[in-house]
Formats: sequence, structure tokens, C-alpha cells
Amino acid sequence: MTHSETKVSETNRHRPQSAALFARAQQLFPGGVNSPVRAFGGVGGSPVFFERGDGAYLTDVDGHRYIDYVGSFGPLILGHSPRVVREALAAQVALGTSYGAPHPGEIALAEAVQQAMPWIESMRFTNSGSEATTASLRLARGATGRDEVVKFDGCYHGAVDSFLVKAGSGVETLGLPDSPGVPKALAALTHTVDYNDLPQLQALLDRRREHIACVILEPVVGNMGVIVPKPGFLAGVKAACARAGVLLIVDEVMTGFRLARGGAQDLLGVRGDITAFGKVIGGGLPVGAVGASRALMAHLAPAGKIYQAGTLSGNPLAMAAGVATLGALAQPGVYAQLEEAGRALEAGLRGACAAAKVPVQLNRVGSMWTLFFTQAEVLDAKSARTADRAIYGRFFHGMLDRGVYLPPSQFEAAFLSLAHGPVEVEATVRAATETLAALG
Ligand code: PLP
Repeated sequence: MTHSETKVSETNRHRPQSAALFARAQQLFPGGVNSPVRAFGGVGGSPVFFERGDGAYLTDVDGHRYIDYVGSFGPLILGHSPRVVREALAAQVALGTSYGAPHPGEIALAEAVQQAMPWIESMRFTNSGSEATTASLRLARGATGRDEVVKFDGCYHGAVDSFLVKAGSGVETLGLPDSPGVPKALAALTHTVDYNDLPQLQALLDRRREHIACVILEPVVGNMGVIVPKPGFLAGVKAACARAGVLLIVDEVMTGFRLARGGAQDLLGVRGDITAFGKVIGGGLPVGAVGASRALMAHLAPAGKIYQAGTLSGNPLAMAAGVATLGALAQPGVYAQLEEAGRALEAGLRGACAAAKVPVQLNRVGSMWTLFFTQAEVLDAKSARTADRAIYGRFFHGMLDRGVYLPPSQFEAAFLSLAHGPVEVEATVRAATETLAALG
């Protein structure tokens, strides 16, 4: 029996079907998964296999039900399998799944994005957030004629060569600061600075401004766990970029339509020159988009010379799920409802931590939150790394065994959806109270 097989049987002893599937998956996929964080490397043990999602709940292949705070890592703001999305998909399936040609669904989703964010004058749909940030970067480089880029330590912008430098999220979970396979010459074009540290960014821009195409950031970080920009930070970044003639890419793959209908940009009053989207705008189907002013987007082929393309881009199923989701999010009161659920959960969790005398930092913006097991205020990647990952792992498994599915890493944001109501929040706080007490 191999080491990993031993771990499977020990940690999934109440989940024999998951354990058996993971053993087969390990023969088929590197690490047994199709995206690294799913492998539970950040929390120990082996992954749970799911067969069903409905509303706020996931059901695993062994029949256990969990309140889900992963939400497919962000897209499922309406909860699992909402009726509006199911109906939109069924209607589209009857009409075909892909045309490889223009169709009305692309226009419907683009207009829904534009209605919420009028500054996105023109956009291009892709199949993932990573493709959207790749296109954003090529656009910035092509439009400015410069090669260097600036990102913030701990921000993740997809599995993109130029951004896999101090990239938070999965690489942080695995303790890989950077990724082998990214050519040194390319990585050398990527500068990193600390989040929430404006003077550091300013100093870099002063030194390298004629070489730098763009600065990219998560307007609220989700990929080191949740990190909130200090008041004035985003406006300061925008002003510094404008003074230096450097483009600002706001990566709203996670935050777009999640924190507000106008995204983090509207919520926090900042505008990027280029915006990357993903997750929520596809309603749970594979999607991404890059958007900007008409003048900037006109650099993309076939209007301009910067090449970007995709066989399934603007896929009718993804467009239909996106239109249905953005339609539901245009109803009055939805973001207030998410904020209320977030506030109640935060208050309950803070109470549970205080009762158990466990020092934590709870960072939350709307429906995105992270409980960091540290005494240090978490403002950037360095302070996030002070969190005790071993305790997070024990907390994660305690919650899992009590029917709450949290992100399988200290460095991934947890998400509420519109399907999470007071019943789910109360059950979660109860589970947390018991789990924290047991941590001792
Ligand atoms: N940008 C941000 C902020 C993300 O959170 C992610 C994924 O988590 C991406 C980009 C990459 O998106 P995808 O996983 O759809 O390629």
C-alpha cells in the first residue's frame, strides 16, 4: 500500500466511495485532480467526490450532505443548480451547443455586462479567467509596446506564465513561490510588489516606467484568502499608473458581479484601463472576458493586430447561463441579502472564536470571507503567511465532519451565495463552535 493510499483510507474512512474514486483518479490525473487545490494538499487527507449540488448544499458520492462555502471557487453566486440557469441551459441545448459563429447570446451577455459597468465599452469573451488575463496582458503589451508587468505578491491571475510569480492560491498552498516551466527570461519581465504598499509600487514605477506595460491587481484579494485594500490604496495605484503612462488591469475574475453589480470597481470607486472577468459572468459554465474602452479593445484582431482567439469563445451554453445569472443579480436587494448573510456569519464566527479563545483574523467583503488563524492583521501576503495552516487543516476537517465544506486551503476565499439563509448560517456557526472547542 502506498503512502497516499494509506492517507485515503484513514481520512476518508466515512467516505468509502470518495476514497475508491480518488484511488482511481490518482491513476488517471496528476495528483488525482484536474486543478491542484482540489487535492486537499493544503489541509491534508484526500478529496471528497461530489455527485450533486443544490442551493447551498453539496452531496457527496457516499450520500453525505454539506453546506458549501466553495461555490465552485466563486461562480455559483445563486447557489448550485438554480432554476433560472437550468431553464436557460435546457432552452439553449435544444438549439445547439456551439456554432463557431456569431449568435444573439453573446450580445445579450455583453449588454448585461455593459449595463452594470458602462465603462466596459467593448469586450471579448474567452473560456476561462486565465484566458481573460492572458488576453489582458497581451493587449497591454501590444498597445504600449512595452514588455514588463507589475503584479502584487499573493495575487493570482490564473495559470499564466507571466503571472505565476508569487502567485498566491494554489502555488502558495503547495509552498511553490514560483512555477518551474516558466522561462526565466519571461519571469524576469514580471516585477512583484507588496499589496497595500503604495510607496513600493511608486518606487518601481519611477525606476522602470518606460519599460512597464501594466500593473495588474485583484481589487479585493481572494487568492491569499481575503485581503482588503486599505482606504486610498486602489485610487493611489490608479493615479500612479496614470502618471507613469502605465495601464492598470483590474482582475475582476473573482470580484466581478460578486461584490456588487458594478464589481469591486464600482464598490470601491476605481476604474481599470482593462478589466478581466470570469466565474460569475458564466453562471457556473466555463467563461471569461476582457473588456476596456473601445479604442483600446480595437487593438485586438480582427479590428487590430494583436491576436486573440478561441474555438469555443462566446459559447452559447456559457452565454445562456451567464445571461440568466446576471439577470437574477439585477433584481433589487440581492447584494444587500448577501451582505446580511455575510454579516450574520461573521458575527457568529467571531463569537465562536472568542468563546474558544482561538486567535483569528476574519477578513470579509460582502459574500467573500476568510478566517485566518493568526494574531497578525492580514493586509498582504507576508501577514497572510503568518496564519497557522496546520490549525486551518484541523478546522477544515472538523467542519467537514460536521457537514460544512470550506475551501481546502487557508489561502482560498470562502463564498456565500444567495441560497445561504439564516438556517445555513446558524448551522455553520454551531459546527464552528463545536470544532473550535475540540481544537483545544
Ligand atoms: N484571476 C483571479 C482573480 C482568479 O481568482 C482566478 C481563478 O481563481 C483566475 C484569474 C483564473 O481563472 P480561471 O481559473 O477561470 O482560469
